[in-house]
Amino acid sequence: MAVPKSKITRSRRGNRRSHDSLVVDNPNECSNCGELKRPHHVCGACGHYADREVVASANEVDLDDDAA
Ligand SMILES: [Zn+2]
Repeated sequence: MAVPKSKITRSRRGNRRSHDSLVVDNPNECSNCGELKRPHHVCGACGHYADREVVASANEVDLDDDAA
């Protein structure tokens, strides 16, 4: 329900906003390349997860491979 801005004290406004802060995520180091990555996610830099490559990185894919 809308309340006039003038009725909200600085204290009440601050109490409401005390839950508004964003939580910083907790990055881990990739065990393959050492880049910071999100825990339980594939590394965005090298495509490794749990010490094996699950996503081919872009510089390894050979686009000239097909015999046209
Ligand atoms: Zn990596």
